[in-house]
Amino acid sequence: MTTMDETKHETPAQETHAFEAEVSRLLHLMVHAVYSNKDIFLRELISNAADACEKLRYLAVSEPGLIEGHEGFRITIEADAKAGRLSVIDNGIGMSRDEMKDNLGTIARSGTKAFLDQLAEKKDGQALIGQFGVGFYSAFMVADKVRVVSRKAGSDVAHEWTSDGKGTFHLGDIDLAEAPVAGTRVTLELMDDATAFAEEGTIERIVREYSAHVPVPISIHVIGA
Ligand code: ADP
Ligand code: MG
Repeated sequence: MTTMDETKHETPAQETHAFEAEVSRLLHLMVHAVYSNKDIFLRELISNAADACEKLRYLAVSEPGLIEGHEGFRITIEADAKAGRLSVIDNGIGMSRDEMKDNLGTIARSGTKAFLDQLAEKKDGQALIGQFGVGFYSAFMVADKVRVVSRKAGSDVAHEWTSDGKGTFHLGDIDLAEAPVAGTRVTLELMDDATAFAEEGTIERIVREYSAHVPVPISIHVIGA
């Protein structure tokens, strides 16, 4: 008997891709290089969330339909301290399936190589991370597994990207119930030695320290404390 999934040959609901070689190299460094300050991963995810809101805000100037019924731009940080899980959620521009594939793994962003070159010269890794646009991958400094759920503004389909940062990532279709409005949710399953990042005090401190000037309101919800 054929199942529903097996019949979808042309656009597979699920697919696995290898990270581009330089991205893999970068991820390896993220996991194994011991940066004294892992806090910055949250700054990077918040910065991406804010960029996504700014992009939609800008696009909506000429295409107001894109923000019809929009409740106002916001970034939400949700954490489950007991489960060691942390999510950064935005209601910005979102990503299509192809954009997730390109932006989060297959295309070596121009910054990636420059970053690796500078790092080889033993420059300060923390300072380099933001500078060269390798921000998203810094999630793998603290997470075993990352899941990105995204719905592009104006689209009525949603997709997920998941990876353990070890060479491959998966793309898949998801139910709209998981992405009722446009935007992106990045969820980190924190490493055993990084579960403090799911605690309210830690999150509040990092947001205060690094993200005070983000032009989108940030709210923090922690459960399981
Ligand atoms: P940079 O922010 O410097 O471009 P990142 O590694 O932080 O580099 O992010 C890579 C790309 O992934 C971004 O440029 C953007 O296209 C996409 N991206 C990441 N996070 C989000 C998000 N929350 N919403 C929409 N796109 C995102
Ligand atoms: Mg970024």
